[in-house]
Amino acid sequence: MEYQEDDFLLLSGIQHYVFCKRQWALIHIEQQWQENFRTIEGAILHEKTHDSTIKEKRGALIISRGMGIFSRTLGITGACDVVEFHKSRDGVTLYGREGTYQPVPVEYKRGKPKQDNADVLQLCAQAMCLEEMLLCTIPEGFLYYGEPRRRTKVILDEEIREEVKRICQEMHELYAKRYTPKVKTTKACRACSLSEICLPKLCKNPSALDYMKKMIAEIEVEP
Ligand code: SF4
Repeated sequence: MEYQEDDFLLLSGIQHYVFCKRQWALIHIEQQWQENFRTIEGAILHEKTHDSTIKEKRGALIISRGMGIFSRTLGITGACDVVEFHKSRDGVTLYGREGTYQPVPVEYKRGKPKQDNADVLQLCAQAMCLEEMLLCTIPEGFLYYGEPRRRTKVILDEEIREEVKRICQEMHELYAKRYTPKVKTTKACRACSLSEICLPKLCKNPSALDYMKKMIAEIEVEP
């Protein structure tokens, strides 16, 4: 199956979806967004890497920043922080360049590596988009973390690729139904940028509906 452009979802949503399906739905289906220091800090780091005015060529290496990407089979679109093109006999041709180059995506992250594999999934989704666009195979990419300031090689194996496909399919199914999953409080709620909008305590409480009815009744009887 192939998705049309109008049905593309944001690749960056994979991170939200892995963090919490409800958070993803609030942002990508209900279009709610609330900034906290984590999202602001992350945005500043991304602004630097996504400055598409920066062009670099270092010997046999070409560096592209903020490259727009998409996949019709996954139905996602987004941008890569950095794609390095390494001169290689087995690589792809690039417009206006001599020789062939192997694309290698590099994703920049603030802070330390996370407990979950959200960053790896996002990087893998980027690689899968690039493979589809450039008709090539990308066996590995890199994740760069602010703490420590260094990058880690990530092997993009079949298992992680299957997980990317499954997540994209689930996101499309939820989006088609416009369904926002119910609250399921976890440790993640404490660091969630949408906790105020999500109102986990109120929504989780079975008497929340009664509470709301009581509030509305009180408003209605006020002179
Ligand atoms: S507050 Fe918790 S349940 Fe609500 S969106 Fe955030 S992580 Fe998900």
